[in-house]
Amino acid sequence: MRLLTTPFDLVTGLSGDVEPIRRNLSEMAGMYADQAAFDAMVAGGDPLVYEFYDLGVPSDAGEIAFGTSITYPGKVGAEYFMTKGHFHSILETAEVYYCLSGEGQMMMENPEGDWKSVEMSAGTAVYVPARYAHRSINTSATEPLVTFFAFRGDAGHDYGTIEEKGYRNLLVERDGQPVTIENPKWGADPETA
Ligand code: MN
Repeated sequence: MRLLTTPFDLVTGLSGDVEPIRRNLSEMAGMYADQAAFDAMVAGGDPLVYEFYDLGVPSDAGEIAFGTSITYPGKVGAEYFMTKGHFHSILETAEVYYCLSGEGQMMMENPEGDWKSVEMSAGTAVYVPARYAHRSINTSATEPLVTFFAFRGDAGHDYGTIEEKGYRNLLVERDGQPVTIENPKWGADPETA
C-alpha cells in the first residue's frame, strides 16, 4: 500500500514529499490575449505560472485523485496569471476545490457555452459541476492562489479542447479590479486566427 498521508503547506500549497508538475509561461502559447506581452515575458525569463500535484492515484472509478494547485501572482498585459484549464475526459465528472490561501476566481464553462466565474479566498469551497471546464485565476498582486482539489480517479484531463477554442471569457484588471470580458478569439480556428 502506498503512503496514505501527504503534507501540503496551507500557505504555499507545496509538499515536501512529492515533486510538483510545473507550468512556465512558454507552455501556455496562445492562451493569453496580449501576444506581445506574452512574447516579452517569455523572452525575459519565462516565469513559473503555476504548479500542481499528481500523486499517482490509480485511474479507476472508485479512486479519488487529489492534490494542491498553486497559481502564482502576475499578469500578461492586463490578464491575470491562470492555469490552462481543462475539461475532464469523462465529461460527466465533477470536482471539488477548497481554497487554502490567496485570492482569485474559478472560471467554468460547459461545451454549450454556459459559464460562471466564482470568487475564491481562503476557506471557500468550490463545486465544479460535471461537464464544466475549470481554470484557476490569481487576482492577487502578491500572494499565490492555493487550492486543494479532489476528483474521480478515472476522470482524465482534456486540455486540447481549451487549447483549440479558448475560454469564452477572459479575466483582466481594469482600474485595479478584476473584470470579465469576452474573449475575441473564442472558438476561432487556430489555423486561421
Ligand atoms: Mn479537473
